Amino acid sequence: MSKLKIAELFYSIQGEGRYMGVPSVFLRTFGCNFKCAGFGMPNGDLSNEVDDVYNLHKLSPFTKYEELPLVSTGCDSYASWDPRFKDLSPMLTTDAIAERIMEILPFNKWQDEHLVITGGEPLLGWQRAYPDLLNHPKMVRLKEITFETNGTQALTPEFKTFLQEWGQNPPFVSREVTFSVSAKLSCSGEARHEAIKPEVVCEYQEAGYTYLKFVVATEEDAEEALETLDIYRAEGFTGQCYLMPVGGVESVYTLNNRRVAELAMKMGLRYSDRLQVPLFKNEWGT
Ligand code: SF4
Repeated sequence: MSKLKIAELFYSIQGEGRYMGVPSVFLRTFGCNFKCAGFGMPNGDLSNEVDDVYNLHKLSPFTKYEELPLVSTGCDSYASWDPRFKDLSPMLTTDAIAERIMEILPFNKWQDEHLVITGGEPLLGWQRAYPDLLNHPKMVRLKEITFETNGTQALTPEFKTFLQEWGQNPPFVSREVTFSVSAKLSCSGEARHEAIKPEVVCEYQEAGYTYLKFVVATEEDAEEALETLDIYRAEGFTGQCYLMPVGGVESVYTLNNRRVAELAMKMGLRYSDRLQVPLFKNEWGT
């Protein structure tokens, strides 16, 4: 039986992208190839807010995610990849994960809920474990699944074939796999040549519906998103493209959301909210 290192497993409303508003189980895996320390910072600066959180952790260790402070700059899910917090993320068997999912679903079974596999970067290292989970008897009625990825990790041939077959498996012919690709622009602080991988994202299209979601704050960011979209289109990307405001805490989100919505309209792109911020203050577990 496979195991996954799980940062969080919770039930909430999907706040972003194509499935905004859909009740969803979120499975947040541990580990990421990025840090995204540039979010919410002046151009070129990197946040060290997570170091302050770690200093608090050393003084009086946090024992669960719900106790961790939110950060207003950098990656808002820092504890799902920063090794200094790895002890908060247990290694669970796929059997234990499926059992836990049944416990948190409102009727203890799949109905219309959607599964979001997020991170960290969920396609980093864990691809070999997902077939065991998705083939688990308790998952048979699951119809829709989204991988929230940064779009840098190629699918293994085995996993790609698995997803193609999972999506077409009768009697659940309406099963659908989605890749929500949050490709990182320069405001993330990540190097462009590491972050923008159109050939990887185009291959996702062979295994599921794929869309792009760029986190932006300024008009310059939105223009960079448009230029970057052209690069994906030139490679054969055919999906939708969203602009989403930066802002893992309400004070930052409310500074940006209207401006980003207006930029999306101006550029003929879709706007994605982050409903978890106004609804639930983006607390861990939401
Ligand atoms: S890719 Fe996502 S999870 Fe990884 S550091 Fe960036 S924002 Fe955080």
